[in-house]
Amino acid sequence: MEPTGVPSTSSDPVEGRSDSDRRNQAGEKRKPLRQYQPLTLTPPGPRRPDWLRARIPSGKEYQETKAILRTLDLHTVCESANCPNIGDCFSRHTATFLILGNVCTRACPFCDIRSGKPLPVDPDEPARVADAARRLGLHYIVVTSVNRDELSDGGSEHFAQTIRAIHEAIPSAKVEVLIPDFLGDEAALRTVLEARPEVLNHNLETVKRLYKRVRPAGKYDRSLELLHRVASHSPAIPAKSGIMVGIGETVEEVEELLRDVHAQGVSMVTLGQYLPPSKSHLPLERYVTPDEFAHYREYGLALGIRQVASGPLVRSSYHAEEQAGETVFIP
Ligand code: SF4
Repeated sequence: MEPTGVPSTSSDPVEGRSDSDRRNQAGEKRKPLRQYQPLTLTPPGPRRPDWLRARIPSGKEYQETKAILRTLDLHTVCESANCPNIGDCFSRHTATFLILGNVCTRACPFCDIRSGKPLPVDPDEPARVADAARRLGLHYIVVTSVNRDELSDGGSEHFAQTIRAIHEAIPSAKVEVLIPDFLGDEAALRTVLEARPEVLNHNLETVKRLYKRVRPAGKYDRSLELLHRVASHSPAIPAKSGIMVGIGETVEEVEELLRDVHAQGVSMVTLGQYLPPSKSHLPLERYVTPDEFAHYREYGLALGIRQVASGPLVRSSYHAEEQAGETVFIP
């Protein structure tokens, strides 16, 4: 899956084997990934720094969230991408819904979502997402998807139906959608925008130089164009984007990316540490320090980007409501 998402920076919060490693050892099939060599000669050691310790998934609220999702047969990127924040988010009854199935038509090497031939689109899914949001007591709902490049509209109408279903079920709800690039299809983007999400997110994921390696089916300029279209066609809908760091980018390249997204009218940005889901995924180059994350935040804010969430465990959907705060509710 792309990004888109998601929460593209994912790994087990507990050191040792990841879920993905366990699935591989259990014989589950996943599209074979290319062999990737680290870009630097001194890859980081196996020990994760203290600032990357996440809450271990457990507790009554955590189980309640899981039960509602299973009852309604819904996917979340939290589980499908093995997000390190799942313990925290599910314990707060928060989740990021993954629509259009959990099989992606692309195979980005950083992402733990399965790639292959997806199932047909489930027409009842929008209503079930809305029902889950109501049962979880959510007022800020984040919805993302796998890439569905085989669909003529890229799945954009399904996104639109999901946004409308949530607004109908919870009139006060704010909906943030984290969308794929729809292969640059402007009509698909308009379909989503016309359903009036409160935030339109599309993750760049990485700096321009690393696109071929990190996001081989994506194009940096195509994604920038999408963000530009959001800001120019629907200025009342904030455009948001995010990247993961620690995969070989330089500080100067991240600064350049921040200037690029600002120039497109993006008003919200997230930066978080990449954590490989397994040994067969894109390798980690380095752990970015909290000081460097603070630098990116200050740099982005100084450019004029309204919200910059930057930190080791930041994901595009992590505390998304708080991230959106000032931006969404500006009159
Ligand atoms: S950060 Fe996002 S993807 Fe990760 S658990 Fe929280 S809501 Fe889910």
